[in-house]
Amino acid sequence: MKFHDNFKFSRQSVELLYSVLILVIIPVMFAVNTLMFISAAKSDFDAELRRKADLASQVFGKSIVNQLDDQAQLQQTLEAVLAEREEIENLSVLVPGEDGFDVVATNNLDAIDLVNKEIQYTVAEERNQSVATLINSSAVSSGRVWNIVSPVTDSSSEFVAITSIDVSLDEADAMTSSTFTRSFIVLAVTIVIVVLLLWNHFRFVERARLVSRLKEADQLKSDFLSVATHELKAPTSVIKGYTSNIMDGMFGEVNDKMKENLQEVLNQADRLNGLVKDLLNVSRIEQGRISVEAKPINPDEVIPKIVERYKKSAADKGLEIVYSVPASPLFIFADSGRYEEIMTNLIDNAVKYSLKGTVTISHSEEGDMVKSSVRDTGIGMSAKERDRLFSRFYRVRNDKTKSIGGTGLGLWIIKQYTEKMGGKIYVDSLEGVGTEFTVELPKAKSS
Ligand code: ADP
Repeated sequence: MKFHDNFKFSRQSVELLYSVLILVIIPVMFAVNTLMFISAAKSDFDAELRRKADLASQVFGKSIVNQLDDQAQLQQTLEAVLAEREEIENLSVLVPGEDGFDVVATNNLDAIDLVNKEIQYTVAEERNQSVATLINSSAVSSGRVWNIVSPVTDSSSEFVAITSIDVSLDEADAMTSSTFTRSFIVLAVTIVIVVLLLWNHFRFVERARLVSRLKEADQLKSDFLSVATHELKAPTSVIKGYTSNIMDGMFGEVNDKMKENLQEVLNQADRLNGLVKDLLNVSRIEQGRISVEAKPINPDEVIPKIVERYKKSAADKGLEIVYSVPASPLFIFADSGRYEEIMTNLIDNAVKYSLKGTVTISHSEEGDMVKSSVRDTGIGMSAKERDRLFSRFYRVRNDKTKSIGGTGLGLWIIKQYTEKMGGKIYVDSLEGVGTEFTVELPKAKSS
């Protein structure tokens, strides 16, 4: 038992672990995927901007070849390009001089005519191709900048100048950061959802455990009910047997007072018997042990017997039981024993909960169903009470019902029987006016 419990627990724990792992892996994979995507997108943007900057620098280089002698014209062209292309932060034109490269045109006016000895200028000149450097510059721009140094050659491919262009990567960085922000929000939402899912999962597992414990407790209760009711059956029969024997004078003469008391003992034993019977039926229904053998039955052969049984107790209360016999015989497809129990219970209740008037039993047909109704002119009930009527152990509790004995099981039991036979049961009632119970069961094709 202990080993089994432990096994069950560890199996549940492994299942739980799997779920937790799966739920944790989802945001982790999402985060990794997003980071990889962002970094790939960033490199693509950088390369694309560099390509564009390269092109701009070459086009600019070509446009100034013939202006190198006219510094003013050169500066004008440079400023026109700068005004047109927002992404260009700095633009300079340098020509080879004695000590390095002399700045002949630039947007940084302080640098004009300065000599520049930067190494990439020399490299660009020697290789006759552009040199690109990625700068994290705070001086020129707020962010990253491509600095492209390109050689300028004249029509006879002679090296004549150098252009230096700084292209800002702000646009690329803004796109990356907005993608990053959006992905971060989605990731945060995913994490929140996963946490909620985990929390819900834990609650679900806790509830599943609780349900299985409740089921065990319910089974224990059912077992106890079944054993206890069986044990109660024998003593009540013995009490009834001996009491009847004494009343019948088997052990000597019995005077009226003694008879009266013994009758009360019999009445209470009957009550106990009723309770035991109901409880046994409940436990049979719970264990799925009720059998129904449906066959065509004629209510005319069942109802009069029940009416006969209740006639006297009804008359003692001043009640009349009226059975309106159907004009033409009708047949119900049901278990005759169960049908008798259902109708007995309804007639018993009608008599029990009525102080005056009539209890009427009638039948009618509707489609494929036959309706058996028991109507009384008794205490009735409110709409709220009506809704709970077919629940186990439910009894209407008020001044009118407090002196009437009962278990609150009868209606629940007959509802189970009715449903098991493919029918339904319902009630219509008005407080202080009366109640009508109707049982609908399938009509038999033929007798
Ligand atoms: P019991 O009669 O043993 O209490 P039932 O399940 O047969 O149990 O009925 C449940 C409750 O429904 C009763 O306690 C009673 O309050 C109410 N009831 C049943 N039949 C009638 C009726 N014909 N008129 C008024 N109340 C009724």
